Amino acid sequence: MKTSPLLFLVLNFCLAALARAETLIATSTPPPSAVPLIESVAIDGGAYRFTVETTDAPDLTDWSHRELIPALQKWYPLIVKMLPSEGYAAPKTFSINFVNSYKGVAATGGNRIECNPAWYRGQLKGEAIGSLVHELVHVVQQYGHARQPGATHAPGWLVEGIPDYIRWYLYEPQAHGCEISPKNAATARYDAAYRVSANFLNFVITKYDKELIRELNTALREGRYDPELWKTRTNHTVEELAEEWKKALEVGGPPPPQ
Ligand SMILES: [Zn+2]
Repeated sequence: MKTSPLLFLVLNFCLAALARAETLIATSTPPPSAVPLIESVAIDGGAYRFTVETTDAPDLTDWSHRELIPALQKWYPLIVKMLPSEGYAAPKTFSINFVNSYKGVAATGGNRIECNPAWYRGQLKGEAIGSLVHELVHVVQQYGHARQPGATHAPGWLVEGIPDYIRWYLYEPQAHGCEISPKNAATARYDAAYRVSANFLNFVITKYDKELIRELNTALREGRYDPELWKTRTNHTVEELAEEWKKALEVGGPPPPQ
């Protein structure tokens, strides 16, 4: 039977519509798995264990298995070693849960990390693993438990600056994720948290004190952080260090590592 021009047009239109529909299906959120998808992982022969749950986001299961899990198996014990303190044992177990109900990027409460699958889906080749290295630092930090009389509160800029220092300067230095351009130097604040504070910490570590992160972490965890610590460690107040840091940023960043 000879196809009429009209039928041919309609057929082509339908095929084009079908192709569009397939594209839409491929980029939309897949339905949650009917069975729980939880991978249980051992680190260092079982010294630590964690689970990754992708029941809500089955499309992330393969990436988690191939890329995320090996990176975290390597980095959790490294972070534990970087942040020791006397009598302290980092959590032996933790969990990473991709849940559609969580609408931020990722958050850690105790040893449970919640992640937003929609954000991770768009960052598999970008920030996905680095953001979880940041969350692992929160699992190890466990600040805020010191109960002795006079225990000090851990300032938020350090609680968030330390994870971003470890993430951007140690885990993925090639990404240059914390750079501050000379034109932004004047408005940079050392206590702005996250990447800006990480840049400040890197400046002080590079120029004055290779043990700064360990010392800060111990003081913060034990409830005895005091701004005097900067003076004790570097002979400069944190404000003096911040001025020096900003001057270095204005001429192109911190000194090269020694
Ligand atoms: Zn954080």
